[in-house]
Amino acid sequence: MLSIKNLCVQVDNKPILKNFTLDVKAGEVSAIMGPNGAGKSTLAHVIAGKDGYDVTEGTVTLNDQNVLDLEPEERSLLGIFLAFQYPMEIPGVGTMTFLRTAYNTHRAHQGKSETDALTFGKLIRQTCDDLSIPHDLLKRPINTGFSGGEKKRAEILQLALLAPTFVVMDETDSGLDIDALQSVAEGVNRLRNKDRAFLIITHYQRLLRFIVPDAVHIMSQGAIAKSGDKTLAEELEAKGYAGIMGS
Ligand code: ADP
Ligand code: MG
Repeated sequence: MLSIKNLCVQVDNKPILKNFTLDVKAGEVSAIMGPNGAGKSTLAHVIAGKDGYDVTEGTVTLNDQNVLDLEPEERSLLGIFLAFQYPMEIPGVGTMTFLRTAYNTHRAHQGKSETDALTFGKLIRQTCDDLSIPHDLLKRPINTGFSGGEKKRAEILQLALLAPTFVVMDETDSGLDIDALQSVAEGVNRLRNKDRAFLIITHYQRLLRFIVPDAVHIMSQGAIAKSGDKTLAEELEAKGYAGIMGS
């Protein structure tokens, strides 16, 4: 599904990703773990198409289609979704309006008709109920004044609504209490299916107790240092990054 080959990325002429190579197959959840500064967010941003990163070498393809030449919104329409480490507050833009606009843009791209406000209202409230998200979130400006947990729930709501093919989650667990963490994990687990893949970026093993990954990769200094199955995450928790890299 998603294939990254020899990806080299610089920021301000400083190499950050160095020959990064990774394959994530349809239906799989791959986890990327690594210390701060390893380049995890850089990887997430380059997949999603954020400005400011200079790709000097390598390819990123989704189902054999080159994504690096596409604008972020084209990548979104292609089925790539990034859940941010720090979701942006957009004062003045209602969550309901934001979600409906995104939803209808995706529908238009698929040649489907626009969903009217009434129909959309029913759909989004049902989606909220499925994910145990309170409806009052919909009435507030997107992410504005949301708690950490609410922001991450809003990301899961967008995820459920847009039903993307490839999902990147950048430290979705950071700053969450255990209840919020479980509810985010439950949202992700509901959305796992054979046609969709996830790249879960996390610093701690905690989230991976609730979202059990098919593969775990440890990233260090811009490349994958070690790969394994879910037990690698447990080993990491026991030994720490230094212990694993030394072994
Ligand atoms: P992680 O998410 O694993 O903590 P990042 O991808 O955020 O790592 O950062 C990797 C490295 O790239 C760090 O050394 C960081 O300082 C550097 N870096 C990332 N973004 C920028 C930027 N916009 N300008 C300068 N340096 C950056
Ligand atoms: Mg990061």
